[in-house]
Amino acid sequence: MSLFKNVTFHTTVASLNDLPTDSVCEIAFAGRSNAGKSSAINTLANHSRLAFVSKMPGRTQHLNYFRLDDGKYLVDLPGYGFAKAPAEIRAQWEGLLAPYLIHRSALAGLALIMDSRHPLTDLDRQMIDWFAQTGKPIHVLLSKADKLTRTEQAQVIRSVREGVATLSDRCSVQLFSSLKHTGVAEAEKVLGTWLGLDIGESEAAPAVVSGPPGKVARPRQRKVQGWAARSAGKEKAAAKNKKPPVA
Ligand code: GDP
Repeated sequence: MSLFKNVTFHTTVASLNDLPTDSVCEIAFAGRSNAGKSSAINTLANHSRLAFVSKMPGRTQHLNYFRLDDGKYLVDLPGYGFAKAPAEIRAQWEGLLAPYLIHRSALAGLALIMDSRHPLTDLDRQMIDWFAQTGKPIHVLLSKADKLTRTEQAQVIRSVREGVATLSDRCSVQLFSSLKHTGVAEAEKVLGTWLGLDIGESEAAPAVVSGPPGKVARPRQRKVQGWAARSAGKEKAAAKNKKPPVA
């Protein structure tokens, strides 16, 4: 049975002022366009069309909130790497995405979807490197794993784990297939832990975190703060030397 079975579409957010105020814990889903992000959200929610709301005209460039439970949300971010005017991309990043990812205190971590056949692109690396400054965990779903042989799966997971370890010490990686529904229990275990859900006894292998082997990355901050309560320190940390995935 799906851990995220009661997920419903909640709202589309185009401006920081419109972020839900009742959220205590949320997970953002990011990834290159076409990586399989919508399919992964649908699979985790056991709902065939849910995240396609995010593909509807007028909603593709915004944050789409899916409600799990009281105060708990999955947040679908716009796919990156899609050809758009640089000025438009920068405006979207600076006006909404960057401040959301850096300052949203309810954000527990980032689920990053990569096509397992083309993982860890430059934009994916920039995203991990940039988000790592928040100190929050990242869980990578290597999607479309059904398109790889067992040998290729073993190779890709090893190389991506090595790659992300150079960028973040709070990044775990797993294989995932929406088509075959593989990797669902493992993803639920990691994301459910971040959300503080009762994940029960799971037979899934623990997600390996770059850094100490066999450790599941958990969010460090659990304190609930309003948007206005963001600290100047965090702002400073975000600004330096890091390149967001916008070009
Ligand atoms: P998004 O743009 O990242 O939201 O990607 P989508 O979820 O829309 O998926 C892009 C394409 O990849 C679609 O044609 C999906 O049917 C396909 N796709 C997504 N996940 C899988 C998967 O696990 N296996 C296979 N074989 N195809 C997938």
